[in-house]
Order: sequence, then C-alpha cells, then structure tokens
Amino acid sequence: MAKILIIDDSALSRRLLKKILDELNHQVIEATDGLSGIELYSIENPDCVFLDLTMPGMYGIDVLKNILDINNQAKIIIASADIQKTTKELSEISGAKAFINKPFDALEIKETLDKIL
Ligand SMILES: [Mg+2]
Repeated sequence: MAKILIIDDSALSRRLLKKILDELNHQVIEATDGLSGIELYSIENPDCVFLDLTMPGMYGIDVLKNILDINNQAKIIIASADIQKTTKELSEISGAKAFINKPFDALEIKETLDKIL
C-alpha cells in the first residue's frame, strides 16, 4: 500500500481516480488546487502524486517544480486531458515520472504505479 496524493480541481476526476486507487488498496489524500497540494505534499510526504495540469491559480507544471524543490526524488505522474505531444514532453522535461491521459484507465494506472513505486 502506498500513500498517494491527488491534486486536481475537478471533483469528478478526483472521485474516479480515488476509486481506482482504492481498489488497488492505496491510501489516498486529495488537494483541489496547486498551493494546497504543495502544502499537503510537504506535510504528508506521499509516495506518489497524481497531478492535474489545468487548475485555477497555479498551473500543474509550476506545482511540479515546487514539489521537486521540496523533494527532488518526488514521484509525480501528470494526469491530464491534454493530448498534445508538447505537453507530454514538457511534463517529462520538467521532471514528471509519467504522463497519463484522462479519461482514466484502471489498467494503465496500475501498470504506471507498478513501474514507479
Ligand atoms: Mg483541471
């Protein structure tokens, strides 16, 4: 079991992802925006983060950079509906361990976590 932080402004996205992670027996904590996500990361030190890109306030890539400033080994998976290749490349250059597209696919999430954790 891993402690996993979801940072996403969409309640629906958080609920769908939490359901998948619950079924994989992970402990899930949630933040609804970048700033509270960074704060929660530093308090909870989760094993892995699922991070949305498009959120009010701070863009996901900036959240990613802030979390890596706290822990340069942080395991961050970008979870976005943005299918542009450049977005995926930017995520990887910025230090994300993986990039998954919404809508969530339970098998893809399981395989990504198996690889990263
Ligand atoms: Mg969003």
